[in-house]
Amino acid sequence: MDETHAPDAKPLRNGTAQPRALPSARPPGAARRRAAFPSSPEARAFRRRFFPEASAADWSDWRWQLRARIRSLDGLAQVFSLSEDERAAVARRQSGLPVGITPYYASLMGLDDPAEPLRRTHIPVGQEYLRLPGESDDPLGETPDSKVPGLVHRYPDRVLFLATGTCSTYCRYCTRSRMVGQPGGEEGISTRNWERAFAYIAAHPQIRDVLVSGGDPLTLSDDKLDYLLGRLRAIPHVEFIRIGTKVPLVLPMRITGALTRMLRRHHPLWMSLHCTHPAELAPEATEALTRLADAGIPLGAQTVLLRGINDTVETMRTLCRGLLKRRVRPYYLLQCDPITGSGQFRTPIETGLAIIDGLRGHLTGYAVPHFAIDAPGGGGKVALVPDHVAGREGDDLLLRNFEGRIYRYPDPGGRTGARD
Ligand SMILES: *Cc1c(COP(=O)(O)O)cnc(C)c1O
Ligand code: SF4
Repeated sequence: MDETHAPDAKPLRNGTAQPRALPSARPPGAARRRAAFPSSPEARAFRRRFFPEASAADWSDWRWQLRARIRSLDGLAQVFSLSEDERAAVARRQSGLPVGITPYYASLMGLDDPAEPLRRTHIPVGQEYLRLPGESDDPLGETPDSKVPGLVHRYPDRVLFLATGTCSTYCRYCTRSRMVGQPGGEEGISTRNWERAFAYIAAHPQIRDVLVSGGDPLTLSDDKLDYLLGRLRAIPHVEFIRIGTKVPLVLPMRITGALTRMLRRHHPLWMSLHCTHPAELAPEATEALTRLADAGIPLGAQTVLLRGINDTVETMRTLCRGLLKRRVRPYYLLQCDPITGSGQFRTPIETGLAIIDGLRGHLTGYAVPHFAIDAPGGGGKVALVPDHVAGREGDDLLLRNFEGRIYRYPDPGGRTGARD
């Protein structure tokens, strides 16, 4: 019974950011059929305009979406009115992070506005070629921390398993742009290296937690992913498995009934979703998140803080509330890594702190992510918290609340807040 309801879960249709509506009526008997993935009127209009040869069934087929990705200057120019800067930057690209945008994700973007947030994260501009002081191709030192190719073991209890080098879309600020989307799956980020990774994890009983990432693991076939999760589950000391993915936001039709049925066989399984902006929370993504949540997968969100894209309290409030409404817990707000070419995206640290301050007290704590910097050189994530200790008077700790008012907490003998 519960096997059949997930693929047909009703969309929430409560998008706060994107007032797109799905058709309200479902055909009778839709609950039992393997319904095609629902598509909003805006997406349908986009398909007819730019992909007239594609049927509705093509559009809702994730493999069609991958095949039809916009990857070239010509492809971009057919859909977007490109700025000179964008045009030159795409034409100049010879190696490095490819361009890749699913038609579905393109349908959410501003076609005529180069400043539109989602577009800015996916269409290169000239600044991408600028290397500022402190920037590097592997700022987190993941390659030196790789114990076997594709497995980063930095923290005592957990590993980052880079399962594939492929993504469905390529984010210009990607921390792993040195390895994702490259021909040949260089640095060994490919299924060929899985066995060595399994052996390493099996040989290290201190590893209780495996974060399966990449690339994007949900670009793998159901069978491959099933195999991967099954192998990890078979290691007795592995307790916690997470998948890190952007697919539910950029390729929501990937979340099929078959996929959720397979995933739930590997419980307890968690998912970390890479979300950028409330414009991603379209009805299709809402449907994908509903299916995942209905499959019993606890959902968390990781957002990279990006200048001019999501760096205001207002945008982050909308995003965090929209996520919570869709049963996704905002988990990390990550300071943008100093990857080569990221100067256009990076914000001063105080921006992130001010955003957290603007969320706390105004939204439930469930909607407030941890603000963290991944320390360059392999230090791991360091969480930064706005300072609400206002000082100390004798045995009283002075606290500043979200409105800026001062409150006292009796803390006899304590030292917190004392000056010296
Ligand atoms: C982010 C990360 C993890 C997971 O960290 P959590 O704080 O548990 O989410 C694990 N390994 C590496 C290398 C990471 O970058
Ligand atoms: S989805 Fe993640 S791994 Fe893929 S390009 Fe974007 S940031 Fe990089």
